[in-house]
Amino acid sequence: MDLGIKGKRAIVCAASKGLGYGCAEALAEAGVDLVINARSEGPLQEAAEKLRAHGVEVTTVAADISTEHGRAAVLKAAGEVDILVNNAGGPPPGMWSDWEREDFIKALDSNMLAPIAMMKACLPAMMDKGWGRVVNITSQSVKAPIAVLGLSNSARAGLTGYVAGTSRQVAPKGVTINNLQPGIHATDRAESLDNGVAAQQGISADEAKAQRCETIPARRYGTAAEFGATCAFLCSQHAGFIVGQNILLDGGAVNSTM
Ligand code: NAP
Repeated sequence: MDLGIKGKRAIVCAASKGLGYGCAEALAEAGVDLVINARSEGPLQEAAEKLRAHGVEVTTVAADISTEHGRAAVLKAAGEVDILVNNAGGPPPGMWSDWEREDFIKALDSNMLAPIAMMKACLPAMMDKGWGRVVNITSQSVKAPIAVLGLSNSARAGLTGYVAGTSRQVAPKGVTINNLQPGIHATDRAESLDNGVAAQQGISADEAKAQRCETIPARRYGTAAEFGATCAFLCSQHAGFIVGQNILLDGGAVNSTM
């Protein structure tokens, strides 16, 4: 399917690896020029090289997207964009009784306030042009809380509430905002969560993964490529009527009727 976005320009935050990279690659395949970001320069350059193989322009900005300074650098390098994919690393797992104010502030900065600030910066130009697409990578934890990821549950629920209202305010100008909710996907983040379970239960990481797969009707982890393809579709010409939605990609793990 031709996504109809060849020649558009996108920012993909936190995109040197994992789900962010999957989104960047699917957009590159659709002919979208990219500004990609991550904190570490080496992996970011490697990602950019792979993405350029699709024949698109790729600009890199090594910066922490959870900081004002980092976002300013990304926005300066990008100029006006048609597409924004918001992403950042997820908060660490832990226990509700251990988290202090500072832990919540860090989670809010990364997973709620950074995407909100990026939207605030990019939406006006999209609305002026009468076309824009925003996709936020959130988590299945918004729909079904994951106890050890309480910091994530909280910050992402805040972002989801913001998107619910804002998406309806910008839609009249041809701009859509939607959230993608990943269940478990085979990325570095999943590996580190599996390692945590393995250490806690005295089992191997492979056993922890197999145990987890048993809880997923699809009996496997998702891939960054299939996640990215969904993101690219939401950014396509065909998705202009999808507004303010939260789309779960979890292999059926969340057991609910809707
Ligand atoms: P990942 O494989 O660990 O990749 C994270 C990417 O983000 C890397 O490119 C990393 O590069 C970059 N990054 C992290 N923090 C950043 C920051 N502050 N500023 C700029 N770049 C940053 O993670 P992932 O699995 O793709 O997860 C992406 C998001 O989806 C996370 O928020 C995660 O919690 C959420 N999620 C993932 C899953 C899953 O199963 N994978 C499930 C639910 C939710 P640098 O380290 O160099 O910055």
